[in-house]
Amino acid sequence: MAETDAPDEVVDVHVHMNPFWRMNADALATLKEHSKQFDRKMNLARRPEAFVEYLDSQGVATAAIINYVSPILGYTHDTNEWAAEFRAEAPERVLAFGGFDPRVADHPHEEVDRALDELALDGIKLHPPHQGINVNDYRTDPDTRGLEALEYLYERCVEHDIPVMVHTGTSIFSGARSRYADPMPIDDVAVDFPELKIIMAHGGRPMYTDEAWFLLRRHENVCLDISSFPPSNLLEYFPEVERIDDQVLFGSDWPGPMIPDIEQNIAAVRELPIPDATVDRILSKNAIELFDL
Ligand SMILES: [Zn+2]
Repeated sequence: MAETDAPDEVVDVHVHMNPFWRMNADALATLKEHSKQFDRKMNLARRPEAFVEYLDSQGVATAAIINYVSPILGYTHDTNEWAAEFRAEAPERVLAFGGFDPRVADHPHEEVDRALDELALDGIKLHPPHQGINVNDYRTDPDTRGLEALEYLYERCVEHDIPVMVHTGTSIFSGARSRYADPMPIDDVAVDFPELKIIMAHGGRPMYTDEAWFLLRRHENVCLDISSFPPSNLLEYFPEVERIDDQVLFGSDWPGPMIPDIEQNIAAVRELPIPDATVDRILSKNAIELFDL
């Protein structure tokens, strides 16, 4: 659709360049089983310059590398440092996301300060099914697990004007708790922190897309990242996506399970029967505005 007016600065807000070798054996086995030539892809995480060559080959100007803390997968807060170091090798092309889990931090507030003030991360990713928490647990479970520190995280992200990305929808990783797949806890966060930029990754697919649509219509500060499902399904999940086209971000989830190369996802977005201006917003413009690129 967008041949004449193709965006020249594609931004992929959801790429998994992670220190995969730190994952536990089960999680790594899932990636190897469901992502073709995974060892080759894993090596890109050791060589940022090779990753940038890959981005060039796919027509991607900027990629957000999505790291997070997950006791289930084996990722600790050290992942934040890794993400910042990776970005330092290609700061013009890479945005670094890190994570936060107050239950595995000795000093949760200091961990937040370190991620935002020292490492200057570009965003924080929370993964409820891989962490076994809800993003609104600061309301329902104070004291017992230290989850009131999530409030501190959100306050400080507002102060730094950086987004919090929340995984929504199920996960096939061993040990994942898909009871936490429902996006609705985001509603509390969006109400309590109206200035916080919230990226709702995956739009609750496959079974919570109605809830995701409600949140997008209700909250201006909630964005949809279309990663992890084939873009050809976008209109099936969100038939009226044009109505919220300033809240939709392109993401691939590459090289996650069953994800084809990024350029195939970009091509699929361009083939959608939606206006060129909407395609441009999804692939490029919204992310440029959100991250002030
Ligand atoms: Zn992901």
